[in-house]
Amino acid sequence: MGSEMISIRNLKKCFGDNVVLKDISLEISKGSVVAMIGPSGSGKSTLLRCINLLTIPDAGTVNVGGQSIAFDGKHTKLPKAKDLAHFRSKTGMVFQHFNLFPHMTVRQNVMEGMVTVLKIPKQDARITADALLQRVGLSDRADAYPGMLSGGQKQRVAIARALAMKPDVMLFDEATSALDPELVGEVLSVIRSLAADGMTMILVTHEIAFAREVADQVIFMRDGVVVECGPPSVVIDNPEKEATRSFLSRFK
Ligand code: ADP
Ligand code: MG
Repeated sequence: MGSEMISIRNLKKCFGDNVVLKDISLEISKGSVVAMIGPSGSGKSTLLRCINLLTIPDAGTVNVGGQSIAFDGKHTKLPKAKDLAHFRSKTGMVFQHFNLFPHMTVRQNVMEGMVTVLKIPKQDARITADALLQRVGLSDRADAYPGMLSGGQKQRVAIARALAMKPDVMLFDEATSALDPELVGEVLSVIRSLAADGMTMILVTHEIAFAREVADQVIFMRDGVVVECGPPSVVIDNPEKEATRSFLSRFK
C-alpha cells in the first residue's frame, strides 16, 4: 500500500434526507499534515468522525494504517466490538471542547486510557504520562484538576491524552476554535511540533495562516464534496475554483 496512511474510497453519509458526504475519496500519506477547511455544515466533522468510526459511513471504504473496513448500507457487516475498538485506537481525536474528566488530575487524565484500554501497568503509564506532559509543556500542572487550567492548557492535556494511546494518526476538529485568541498560539505550537516529529495529522481549522504554514495538503470542502485539494501554495494562495476563492475571501 506504499506510503499511504489513510485511504478513503467513495465515502457516503446521510442523516435522514440530508446527504452530508457525497462520494468522498482521499489518500493521505504517512507523515503528512492535511488541513481541512470549508464553511460550517460542509461535512468536515462528519468526515473526521467517519475516519475513526465515531460515525458509521453508509457506503465506501475506510483504510487506516493498512486495515480496511468497507461499508455497504444495510448490508454492512460491522466488525466485532473488539476489532472496531482496535481500528479506532489507530486514530487520536482532539475536539473543540476538550472533554477531559473533571474529577481526575491532569496526570490521571493522560494515564486513564493507557491503564484501562491498553492495560499498561500504572507505574509505566505514569512515566509515559509525565513524559507526554513535558512534551506539551505542562509538567508543572500534572497534579492540577482540569477546572484549574486555562483553555489552552486543557487542550494541551487533551492532546497528551490522545498521544498516550500511540495513535498512527491524529485528528483535530477545530482544536483552537473555543480558545481565547491569546491561548491559540500555545496549542498551535504543540501541533507544529507534532508535525515536525512526522505525525500524520488531519486538522479541521479556520486558522488559514497556520494551515498554510504547517500543511502539506489543503482540502477545501463544501456541501459534502471535496471541491479542491492540493498544496497550500495552490489551494490557499492560488485556488483554481471560484468556490474556494469566495470562501477564502472571508479571511482576508
Ligand atoms: P462541519 O463540521 O463542516 O461544520 P458537520 O459534519 O458537523 O459539518 O455537519 C454536516 C451536516 O451534517 C450538517 O448539515 C449537520 O447538521 C449534519 N449533521 C452532523 N451530524 C449529525 C447528526 N449526528 N445527526 C443529524 N445531522 C447531523
Ligand atoms: Mg465541524
